[in-house]
Amino acid sequence: MTTELPLVFDAPKPRMGMPPKHLADLSDAERTSAIKDLGLPAFRSKQVANHYFSRLSADTEAMTDLPAGSRAEVGEALFPTLFTDIRDQQADGGATRKTLWKLHDGSLVESVLMRYPDRATLCVSSQAGCGMACPFCATGQGGLQRNLSTAEILEQFRIAAAAMRDGEIPGGPGRLSNVVFMGMGEPLANYKRVVAAVRRMTAPEPEGFGLSQRNVTVSTVGLAPAIRKLADEGLHVTLAVSLHTPDDELRDTLVPVNNRWSVSEVLDAARYYADTSGRRVSIEYALIRDINDHVWRGELLGKKLRDALGPMAHVNVIPLNPTPGSKWDASPKAQQDAFVDAVARQGVSCTVRDTRGQDIAAACGQLAADAG
Ligand code: SAH
Repeated sequence: MTTELPLVFDAPKPRMGMPPKHLADLSDAERTSAIKDLGLPAFRSKQVANHYFSRLSADTEAMTDLPAGSRAEVGEALFPTLFTDIRDQQADGGATRKTLWKLHDGSLVESVLMRYPDRATLCVSSQAGCGMACPFCATGQGGLQRNLSTAEILEQFRIAAAAMRDGEIPGGPGRLSNVVFMGMGEPLANYKRVVAAVRRMTAPEPEGFGLSQRNVTVSTVGLAPAIRKLADEGLHVTLAVSLHTPDDELRDTLVPVNNRWSVSEVLDAARYYADTSGRRVSIEYALIRDINDHVWRGELLGKKLRDALGPMAHVNVIPLNPTPGSKWDASPKAQQDAFVDAVARQGVSCTVRDTRGQDIAAACGQLAADAG
């Protein structure tokens, strides 16, 4: 008999791997075969999907239409715990809620739920960290840990939708109506899982959460080939492109991936998206004092968008949200107004985004999943 000595000097590092498979990762056929593998008849597959997607439940003990003897087994096989140690922070009188999720491998991600009088929007993360390294974004400073699985994206949705339904957000019971992929990560760098998550969110119940495709926005730094691929998926989701400046010289530094796909390549791809989907493209512009807020840049932006997209462009100006250690800040109000005017004078629609949750670091670009 051999004695195993613990190799304390060679302790394994926490595995930064993908999570175990979850019901929300599976296609309908895969789910049915997983149910059959447990010795259950195929019709149980639809029952379980109904609990998850329509009733927003992942607790098999509460699925009383399943045979009592199989609930634990179904739970183990299809509903592994993906998130633990959840922390909530609130702002705007409770109308904005930021949640910190700890994933099975210790990675941290955040999502933000924002309730408005006429809708409720969830800002979801698609990656733990981000590899795009935009210098003004807090997430970009920590690098990429890993892609989220489809189920990790969908669980953010399910839990927020249940919170809305159960009246946990001030304003009484309501419905989660909109999703924006504007949390941590670059969604088009996790393409397959993000598209699968969008399809599930927007499939009618009980095969999906029944969200309208028009109420989903996918935001990208501008990975031009992936934008074209997304257009060819035939989804009617809104595309948001984080442009931040109309000139390559500055964009090379603000959005480093511009060195690979330039402003004109990104706008060509956005045009293709608009033509294919029939949907207006949202152009995101974080306005940074003395960096990209000049009137001449507003004019140039307006001209380039008019030429590339015409009425299919809408500019969303985001006053820069402060991030730790950054020397940059938002433009003064007068400069912001002058910039917006300069864009609008070119005939391009342009509005300023309302900034939610700044005091709990929940606003655009502030998500850093800092557990401290
Ligand atoms: N990677 C995707 C998804 C992130 S979305 C993308 O870049 O589009 C988050 C949006 O907030 C992007 O438009 C991003 O450029 C913007 N943003 C990042 N940091 C910001 C900051 N400090 N202030 C305001 N907006 C910021």
